[in-house]
Amino acid sequence: MRKILKAGVIGHPIAHSKSPIIHGYWLQKYGIAGEYLRYDIAPQDLKSEVARLVDSGLRGFNVTIPHKESILELCANRSELAQKIGAANTITIDDTGRLHADSTDGFGFLQNMAAHVPDLNWRNKTIMILGAGGAARAIVWALMTVDVGQIILVNRTYDKAVALCAELTNQYEGMSEIIPGHWAEIPDFLPRCDVVVNTTSLGMTGQAALEINLAPLPANAVVSDIVYAPLETELLKQARGRGLSAVTGIGMLLHQARPGFERWFGVKPDVTAELESLVLS
Ligand code: NAP
Repeated sequence: MRKILKAGVIGHPIAHSKSPIIHGYWLQKYGIAGEYLRYDIAPQDLKSEVARLVDSGLRGFNVTIPHKESILELCANRSELAQKIGAANTITIDDTGRLHADSTDGFGFLQNMAAHVPDLNWRNKTIMILGAGGAARAIVWALMTVDVGQIILVNRTYDKAVALCAELTNQYEGMSEIIPGHWAEIPDFLPRCDVVVNTTSLGMTGQAALEINLAPLPANAVVSDIVYAPLETELLKQARGRGLSAVTGIGMLLHQARPGFERWFGVKPDVTAELESLVLS
């Protein structure tokens, strides 16, 4: 009898997680004898419950709120990115039961951008990131690896943008410049931006609108929104209305899942339109 390969996702709450749909789709598509389950783990139970998952033979798991930072304490190894970001979303368990942490949100962002704007060359580009939360952190660290020219990090709470910029400065040799910006300065920054990325929760169903006039953006600019509910945010509609390239957020969610699936189940999975529709339905 073939051994069932097991993986899952931990969080608290966890019922909303789309990860089982994504991994379930791939398990079926590639004919793998495996399972991917949700595990609701309260913060105070993290250590004991993770030990139980290791004992049960899990090959690894995804991590969502509120464990993305605290899981690192339980990991024997951390990728350079997970270490720098201070958070992980993908854990692999080796044959001796040791945990290896990685952060794949930034990878998911870059892969999604490449899939939608294949001719986008990051080199020397000016990128404005709206937001300085967990998602922004993963994205700016990833952008540091693709040689962009300048990152302008704009956040409602300016001090958080300043702190994140300070943390990133001088981390890589010859690295990109990253500067903080005030929310009120957005219209002044737009004329020199090649790419604008919304990483705030503004524009999400049930949240306030993201009110930005994209008119000053150059005609060849790309606008990306990592919010995916709704899929077509007002920001993206406005960008398309101006004839700009607009990239939705669902692909980031799908692509960030790929490294984990490959490590746990041994197949490099594809992101397809069918999977996207399934996750959005
Ligand atoms: P987070 O750590 O809580 O950060 C939230 C960010 O939104 C902060 O920068 C916050 O600014 C800003 N914000 C919230 N309300 C605002 C308002 N009224 N005006 C201006 N800025 C406001 O959250 P996160 O984990 O980074 O997630 C952010 C969004 O990205 C969520 O909608 C999430 O669903 C989405 N996301 C998508 C993916 C994907 O795969 N597509 C992955 C991760 C996250 P302050 O610092 O001033 O509070």
